[in-house]
Amino acid sequence: MSVYLDNAATTPLDPAVLDAMLPYYRDNFGNPSSTHAHGRSARSAVETSRKTVAEILNTAPSNIYFTSGGTEGDNIAILGFIQTFGIEHVISTRIEHHAVLHTLEALKTPEVCYLDLDAQGNIDFDQLEGLLRDNPGSLVTLMHANNEIGNILDLERAGYICREYGSYFHSDTVQSIGKYPLDLQKYPVHAAVGSAHKFHGPKGTGLLYLNAGGKIEPLIHGGGQERDIRPGTENVAGIVGLAKALEIAAHDMEKHSKLISGLKEKMIRDLKATIPGIAFNGVSGNMEESLYTVLSINLPAKDKKNMVLFKLDLDHISVSGGSACASGALKGSHVINEIHKGAENMTVRFSFSKYNTPDDVDHAVSSLRRILDQVSLTRE
Ligand code: PLP
Repeated sequence: MSVYLDNAATTPLDPAVLDAMLPYYRDNFGNPSSTHAHGRSARSAVETSRKTVAEILNTAPSNIYFTSGGTEGDNIAILGFIQTFGIEHVISTRIEHHAVLHTLEALKTPEVCYLDLDAQGNIDFDQLEGLLRDNPGSLVTLMHANNEIGNILDLERAGYICREYGSYFHSDTVQSIGKYPLDLQKYPVHAAVGSAHKFHGPKGTGLLYLNAGGKIEPLIHGGGQERDIRPGTENVAGIVGLAKALEIAAHDMEKHSKLISGLKEKMIRDLKATIPGIAFNGVSGNMEESLYTVLSINLPAKDKKNMVLFKLDLDHISVSGGSACASGALKGSHVINEIHKGAENMTVRFSFSKYNTPDDVDHAVSSLRRILDQVSLTRE
């Protein structure tokens, strides 16, 4: 039996999404910038997809731009805002995804201030407000749902604080789009980012919501596609796939969130019963406060962490030791290292999708129990 529980890294493509995409590889292969019939058909597919996405996120189609994914969307928003609005101060946290963190670290200016986090990885809104009071007109970049520990930010609260101090608010919503009903009229954000492969769409396709009052400076220059924000011939099939995947996610959200929450709840219960002393990273063990697709556990077997992941893999269970990007490097997760400073940790992240079953959970928990027994036997 093979079990895939690494859906925060990527999700399997929904077959209905593939069906929607295929005609744009076969017959409707035109370039959306061409004015002939082939081109017009491709243009129509792109614009229909934009309308679909905008309707689901409750915003105007003119606020939606298609990109190559989450990383590009984060870069366009952060670097674009800084350049266009002459931002002198940026506020963020050290547990953002590398798409944000490494972008900020690469900046020579402006100054970046990282908010303090409590032991569970939560920010202090009073500190955010104090910093903005001293530095109005800042750029604040805070992710909505953390991909490693599942913490969820109160977007409305953060957004209204930013608004009060005339600041720009970018949120990496890669892990929450398609999982929660994001209403961009309600949430006071100037930029939000999505990535299709996190909600059963194709890899290499993303969406960027921009609503900052005016055109922002692009990162790259070219033929003017996506109203100059992201020039380059559009990935038509990918865009169609993204819209279809989001449509399915929105339509089935209640059903799938219930199903996935049930699996996560079962895993928490079964892990507690099977592995005494098990702890959860961030707030991921709390069903009310965390992303229902992510469960990050912290185990006592600290000196054998790579062995545990390796053995889970041998048992055909695909999970992550942190983020997908960090797992290959064996450097450990910057998020876990940040919230458990100095402490040795063994983290396993399980992340679920609509394709998982209770059997997957049973299999993963019993395999983990067996592996931990072997690891502690080896240690003695
Ligand atoms: N932001 C978050 C929170 C993510 O989880 C990811 C992907 O792991 C990204 C950004 C990057 O998205 P992409 O893989 O589409 O570039």
